[in-house]
Amino acid sequence: MTVVEECTPPDRQDSSGWLTFSHCGHKNKKDFFKSRRGSLVLRLKKANFLEESSVRGAGTGSKMSRAMQIHATKGQPQSEIITAQRSQKGGSSHGGPLRFKNAMMFWLRCNEEVLDKRLDDRVDDMMNRGLVQELLDFHNTYNEERLKNMDKSVAYTQGIFQSIGFKEFHPYLTLKAEERDTDSGKQLLEKGIEDLKLVTRRYARRQIKWIKNRFIRSKDREVPEIYGLDATDLDTWDENVLKPAIDIVGARLGLPDYKTSIKPLPKEDPIDNSLEENFCNVCQRVFTEKYQWEVHLKSNRHKRELAKKKRKENQQNEATKKVKATVEDADAST
Ligand SMILES: [Zn+2]
Repeated sequence: MTVVEECTPPDRQDSSGWLTFSHCGHKNKKDFFKSRRGSLVLRLKKANFLEESSVRGAGTGSKMSRAMQIHATKGQPQSEIITAQRSQKGGSSHGGPLRFKNAMMFWLRCNEEVLDKRLDDRVDDMMNRGLVQELLDFHNTYNEERLKNMDKSVAYTQGIFQSIGFKEFHPYLTLKAEERDTDSGKQLLEKGIEDLKLVTRRYARRQIKWIKNRFIRSKDREVPEIYGLDATDLDTWDENVLKPAIDIVGARLGLPDYKTSIKPLPKEDPIDNSLEENFCNVCQRVFTEKYQWEVHLKSNRHKRELAKKKRKENQQNEATKKVKATVEDADAST
């Protein structure tokens, strides 16, 4: 099911906890509800299809789409299902208990330097297999027209356009065909490749953090045991990964001849990942988990935006002062 993308995510929260929609041209909640997407949110909300938290963050079509999908297949509102799941034994603020109690997880870990090298190689491999041509085709077919009527800061925040490996090449893709072969064109391409490598490495770090938060520092959530296996040296894959994994599973199943001394990774101090909605006025972003919010406030991205905002305010103050001084000078001389 597709939900028509007709406006960007909501950008601000009013005192009642609702989001306002000014940057997509909807002045207020009422205005938003008159739009096609807004009327859909309203209908879902009235039918109790959407959880309250989803309603508030309903700028993303995927949440609505999922709520409708659930209703269509289960004949029951999503909000009811989630409430029931949370109240089960082993349930938490995030959902129900584990469906398969005997589940276990293997986390293949790798020395950071080796991992970075692998990720860089993967990007090079993608380039060799024709990534640039693919991006050019995609850009020419879908993106060029679209960008003509769009604010660029918004254009890359939606759907497939936010995927890693596309927006990094924007400056190169938007060159004219003959410009791409020039030195500066080639430099832009190189810059795109470097940026892609950088964001890929960053993404990998985020994944590691996510795994830790979800499985090792989880507070109230039921999670399977997770075993760490070392995949740094692929020449020793069988000894370091395959055999230990088979032994762990065999021992868990109580099969004869399978023994292991490997223990699940120890739990670390839990983070408070309870649900709490916050809105960052500086970055114009909504956060639904308390932990995400705390991380965001300490993040470089937030600090950068904050510094930018302060600089702007200072400039404005200076400009106002100058105007005032000029007016006073003019007054004095008359
Ligand atoms: Zn922020």
